[in-house]
Amino acid sequence: MLRIGLTGGIGSGKSTVAALLAERGAVVVDADRIAREVVEPGTPGLAAVAEAFGPGVLTADGALDRPALAGVVFADPAARARLDGIVHPLVRARAAELVAAAPADAVVVQDVPLLVETGQARSYDLVLVVEADPEIRVRRLVGRGLAEEDARARIASQATDAQRRAVADVVLSNDGDREHLAAQVDRFWTERVAPTLP
Ligand code: ADP
Repeated sequence: MLRIGLTGGIGSGKSTVAALLAERGAVVVDADRIAREVVEPGTPGLAAVAEAFGPGVLTADGALDRPALAGVVFADPAARARLDGIVHPLVRARAAELVAAAPADAVVVQDVPLLVETGQARSYDLVLVVEADPEIRVRRLVGRGLAEEDARARIASQATDAQRRAVADVVLSNDGDREHLAAQVDRFWTERVAPTLP
């Protein structure tokens, strides 16, 4: 098994790269998606969050009220740490289950937005970083429906390109069009992935 950690700032193009790698046969494990799954209604994760932050973080039908929770943890680092302490171990455990379920000779790509921030670089055979100019990322995020102010705040709260580069084995540049990105993914596959395959 080849384990690839895929990361990059918000709007850099991680999901796009993950989809391109999936087309080439990789098994993709998406940390954001798992983070939503572990707090779905009826999960122990959601029960733990409600226990910690009170019924105000639940909607009338018992789902997680994300804006309400965001309001609680936004300006309160201790609350944020408490939330992360609940959610992060659940995400890691579920990700580990999915990796364990992949075939022994699989190429497993884990899309982990906060890989650098959470110090997980050593968990992977290869760390693949996607980069794009912050202004281009803001434009793409606004195109995806995020408010510009929120996009800028999210970018500012994350690791810098320099911090991500420090742990990267390979850096892809996504300042160009989709074809430019796809060509780099092809080259990554040919040079770094294919030679490791049985
Ligand atoms: P991330 O997963 O890192 O947040 P995405 O892959 O979702 O980033 O990309 C952010 C947005 O930009 C998405 O709407 C995506 O479709 C778009 N996008 C990604 N790469 C390009 C590109 N090279 N050209 C134009 N739009 C792009």
